[in-house]
Amino acid sequence: MALSRLVALRLRAGHAGVQTRQKLQSTGKCLLQCLPSPYNQVFRNSSSLSNVPSPGGAAYGIFVAIATLGGGVYVCRTLHRDKSRFHDRLSTINSIRESIEQVEFREADTDKQEKQRGEAVLPSHVPFLLIGGGTASFAAARSIRAKDPGAKVLIVSDESDPPYMRPPLSKELWFSDDPYVTETLRFKQWNGKERSIFFQPPSFYVAPEELMSTEHGGVSVLTGKKVVHLDVRENKAKLDDGSHISYEKCLIATGGTPRSLPAIERASEDVKLRTTLFRRISDFRSLERLSSKVGSITIIGGGFLGSELACALGRRAQRSNLEVIQMFPESGNMGKVLPEYLSHWTTEKVKREGVNVISDAVVKSVSYKNGKLHISLKDGRQVETDHVVAAVGLEPNTELAKSAGLELDGDFGGYRVNAELQARNNVWVVSFARS
Ligand SMILES: Cc1cc2nc3c(=O)[nH]c(=O)nc-3n(C[C@H](O)[C@H](O)[C@H](O)COP(=O)(O)OP(=O)(O)OC[C@H]3O[C@@H](n4cnc5c(N)ncnc54)[C@H](O)[C@@H]3O)c2cc1C
Repeated sequence: MALSRLVALRLRAGHAGVQTRQKLQSTGKCLLQCLPSPYNQVFRNSSSLSNVPSPGGAAYGIFVAIATLGGGVYVCRTLHRDKSRFHDRLSTINSIRESIEQVEFREADTDKQEKQRGEAVLPSHVPFLLIGGGTASFAAARSIRAKDPGAKVLIVSDESDPPYMRPPLSKELWFSDDPYVTETLRFKQWNGKERSIFFQPPSFYVAPEELMSTEHGGVSVLTGKKVVHLDVRENKAKLDDGSHISYEKCLIATGGTPRSLPAIERASEDVKLRTTLFRRISDFRSLERLSSKVGSITIIGGGFLGSELACALGRRAQRSNLEVIQMFPESGNMGKVLPEYLSHWTTEKVKREGVNVISDAVVKSVSYKNGKLHISLKDGRQVETDHVVAAVGLEPNTELAKSAGLELDGDFGGYRVNAELQARNNVWVVSFARS
């Protein structure tokens, strides 16, 4: 009896074991289908369920089922973790690769720039010669290439940088969060997109020595060179290193140089050393550095540039001990271009930016005593400061007029041109041209 019950139990258990094995086989198949192929293969080899010796018991079946499910869950979790680790490492590798590429790009650009400055073998003749490396020249180069895609254009600039935008130098760059902004010179545009102040990276330009042999032409920039003489009969320009370049068409785009104040012109070297005439990248860099070193900066001039710089520095002053003073002869900011009520409204805005605005101020003299600049105003007021920024207008660069025999406008001082901005045969003028 006991024996027959035992036999019956074993038979039932054996039947249950077969059922469990069948169920496990189908569960295992499902799991295998879920797994990616390599794992799938390993799992398949190591869990050939049909080869499991029959334990002959439900407990064993349940144990195998739990172990298999546990294993499946473990494998899935490990795979998931591996996947996210893989993505993390991939993004780290990508960011390292991007940094390396940026460094390489900068090094390549620096090499190219140094090559351009150092051993550049100048072409003796170019189809298009643009004198000056500002916005006007760059825009002209772009237009020439748009009309004639094979055009060969040489820009000669006495600045050390390729063409760039000046407006961010008194605006966006000052409000950047980037602590390296003086190096990167990148800013956020109105649409939120970041860009460099340079119109194009140095790699865009063809090396001057390769310009004439380049099949599809291009734009070259010769930096750090000044055109000192223009022979409009011979179609030839002379550079400050003594070399000559002949041209077919020439554009004078030499812009202007910031004016200084007579009171500063008359003052000692100590005063001149502590005065910035703001126009170039180097001026932005030095004023930015100064703004965290000195205790007081005075901006002379109430126009756009003076007011922009006053606001930029005023904003800085809110986070430091810097004192920012702006003085001008008018009764309010931008008093020469705005109606009185708007000018006064603007002055209130500038004051709210942390600027000490001194209106109706005509500078009589500036001197340097006991480590400070002393500005004396015509009405007797005295202002003490560490550094002065003179933002009092521009003087057109017209030195080439004499050698070229070009006529200047008696009233405004710019080059005299016709309605097509032409001053002579094959010579055009932009920027300070007057027709
Ligand atoms: C800080 C700042 C902010 C400004 N913001 C604005 C703004 O918001 N909106 C606006 O409309 N305008 C603004 N301006 C004015 C605007 O930048 C100028 O109108 C513009 O720069 C004029 O461009 P340009 O190419 O004619 O002359 P410039 O920019 O003066 O370029 C002339 C270039 O020629 C070079 N050069 C001169 N003589 C020679 C020579 N003999 N040989 C070789 N190179 C020579 C000069 O060094 C200079 O690089 C701003 C200017 C400054 C300085």
